[in-house]
Order: sequence, then structure tokens, then C-alpha cells
Amino acid sequence: MVSRIAIIGAGWYGCHIGLSLKLLGFDVTIFEQHARPLHEASGNNQFRLHLGFHYPRHHQTRVQSRDGFMRFMERYPYLSREVAENIYAVPSVESLIDFPTYRLIMTSSGIDYREVLAASVPVIEVMGLIQTGERVLLIEQARRYFAGQLAGSLVLGHHVGSIEHEPGCVRVEGMPFDLLVDASWGQQSALPAGFFYEPTILLYYETRGETSGATDQPFPAITLVDGPLCSVYPTEDPSIYTLSSVPHTPLGVATDPARARRVRDSVSSDLVQAKRLAMEAQISRYLPGFRQSFRFVGPQLAIKTKPVGSFDDRSCSVIRRGRVFQVMSGKIDTIFFAMERILSFIEASQTDAVVPLQSPLRQDIIDRGMITHAL
Ligand SMILES: Cc1cc2nc3c(=O)[nH]c(=O)nc-3n(C[C@H](O)[C@H](O)[C@H](O)COP(=O)(O)OP(=O)(O)OC[C@H]3O[C@@H](n4cnc5c(N)ncnc54)[C@H](O)[C@@H]3O)c2cc1C
Repeated sequence: MVSRIAIIGAGWYGCHIGLSLKLLGFDVTIFEQHARPLHEASGNNQFRLHLGFHYPRHHQTRVQSRDGFMRFMERYPYLSREVAENIYAVPSVESLIDFPTYRLIMTSSGIDYREVLAASVPVIEVMGLIQTGERVLLIEQARRYFAGQLAGSLVLGHHVGSIEHEPGCVRVEGMPFDLLVDASWGQQSALPAGFFYEPTILLYYETRGETSGATDQPFPAITLVDGPLCSVYPTEDPSIYTLSSVPHTPLGVATDPARARRVRDSVSSDLVQAKRLAMEAQISRYLPGFRQSFRFVGPQLAIKTKPVGSFDDRSCSVIRRGRVFQVMSGKIDTIFFAMERILSFIEASQTDAVVPLQSPLRQDIIDRGMITHAL
């Protein structure tokens, strides 16, 4: 029987899976190398609670996001907030798909939106715009929530260096566990085939006072899709936004995590300045008022673990190797999918499979001689 479960990593995945297993009565220990949960990718991203609008080229990612969003709202209602005006716009020239196709894909995926003629700030060179219900994640609230709920199960400031496989258990740092969940987003075990690391840079900006035209409403979230485009998105701090760019956010490709960390940790101020110029130039093509509305604050550096491919697969998968589950997360809304896969593996291992030796089906077929009416 499974009772003791170790988890490596207290990102969104390790925290959610750990809390769910704990509430089900398992004895859970979560090892996190940093002094607080959600310190790496989970605390350094665009903080968008996706609904699927970002992924017109990948069906499974859209469907996982759509369903994950609903479940996130049910389970963690206080860990995200509404974005009053959340616009997706399809550029006339640079998008990989046209606006009618984009709309059709979202409609056929059952993702709700409202078409709008304009945003509250000028957005130019676009074929069409929609208003969506995507939200912003409240990261500090989430840190406090998980730190409180997981008290007694979280081992912070502890880098896991030793994993030993034995017939009856898996030893993590010398302690025996029935199962191990590797929620390090590919930092701990070898990456599955077809994945790579991508060190990234996003830029933080603060608003320059009144930002949205004649009104005092907050600057909208604007995301340009689909392809090598860019977006400006709010954070939990109403005056701070992130600027992200498909061509300029990646800092390279790495096949081992140590190299990805070296690239992330050696970003120079010259590189930040070059990225800033390139990203501001790109967003200003569509949002001509960007520089008047925002002041640069600083970079955000992180590492993504991504599958190879140009159709933008960000779906979540869980791989089982013996007593170890490796979680390959794409985005935050798919935490529920990962948990369900793990639970399903655990349930299967707790039940004996019933395999009938010979089919008794013939005994259930009515004897033709017993039937009195004509067939
Ligand atoms: C630039 C960028 C923008 C993104 N934007 C969004 C977005 O807007 N919306 C969205 O949903 N997703 C977004 N993502 C993806 C999202 O950040 C990830 O899907 C999510 O954070 C992954 O969570 P995780 O728990 O799997 O990994 P992580 O948050 O990376 O957590 C893994 C944890 O494991 C710990 N760890 C690793 N090795 C060890 C060890 N040996 N011992 C102890 N601890 C260890 C790490 O310290 C870390 O805390 C973005 C990602 C990036 C990089």
C-alpha cells in the first residue's frame, strides 16, 4: 500500500499535488531547495490564468486550459483576480492565422469570448479583437496559502541530491518513501525525449499614472496572436505589468539544466538593454502609446522546460518510471490534470487486476431451443 510520498519541488505543481495528496490522507513530504514556495518558474512568469486563447495551434493545450481554468476557479477562488479589460488581437500582417480562423478555432473549442471593435487604448494594424475572461494569478497570496496549508509537510531550503531505488521503496535523502513525485519541472531527473530547456527574459514595467486614454481605468491586458508576437499583461500589483515577446523572450536552447541556469544567471545589463529596445519596438508597432504609458523597471529571468515543435504544445504530461512520477507541466492551469494522472496510477497500483481465465459469456446466451416465438 502507498502511504508515504515524497515530492521534489514546491512550484505550483508540487504544492497543488502535495496538498491534494495530504488532504486524501497520504503522508507527504515536499523538498524545496529555496527558502519559499513558488520561487522559480512558478514565481517568475506572466501570471496569466489561461483559458486557451494563447494556443490556436494546439488542441489539447486549449482543452486542458479551458477545463483547468474552471477547476482553478472552484478550488482556488482567492488565488487569481479578474482583468477588467483583457484583449486578444490578431495582427493583419504578422499573425500566422487570420482573424476569422482564430475566432472559429476558439468557438469550436467551447471557449467563450466577446468580439469588440476597439480597446480603451489604440491598438493598430490588427484584423480583429476579442475580449476574454482570462485572469491574473496572485502569486504572493498563493505562496502564503500553500506555506500555511502545507505546514509540517514542506521542507524548505533543502536541495535533494540523493535518490536511491530499492525493492520495497525509493529513498530520498536516505528516507524511505513508497512513491516519489518529481515536480522539479525537469531539473531533477533526465528530461524525456523531445523536451529542452529555455532560459527566458520578461520585462517589468510600471504605469506612468493615468494610462488608459481619457478614463482612469487600468491599462488593458493586450495579447497579440498568433506566432512571433508579444503581449503586455498585468500582475498582482496594479501598477506593474510584464512585457513578453515570442522572438525576444527566449535566451537560448539548452539540453541540460546546469547550462540553462548558467545562461539565466549571466545575463548582462547590455543584454537587458538590447532586449528592452527590441521588445519595446515590437509592442509599439501595435500599441503606439506603450512608451508614454509605461516606465521600464527591470527584467524577470526564468527557465522554461518545453517540448520541441512549432505548434506550441504546452499541455501537461505525467511519466511513470517504477516508483517515480515525473511531471512535465506546460502551464499552471493544468495542475489538476497532473494530480489526476498521479492518483489514477496510485489507484491502479493499490488494486489487484481481475483477469478471468475463461470467458463465461456462452452461459449467458439464451438457448435457441428455449425460445417459443418465431425469430
Ligand atoms: C517566461 C515564462 C512565462 C510563463 N507564463 C505563464 C503564464 O502566464 N501562465 C501560465 O500558466 N504559465 C506560464 N509559464 C509556465 C509556468 O511558469 C510553469 O508551467 C509552472 O510554473 C511550472 O510549475 P512547476 O511547479 O512545474 O515548476 P517550478 O515552478 O519551476 O517548480 C519546480 C521547483 O522544484 C525545485 N527544485 C528543482 N530541483 C530541486 C532539487 N533537486 N531539490 C529541491 N528542490 C528542487 C525548484 O527550486 C522549483 O521551486 C511561464 C513560464 C515562463 C518561464
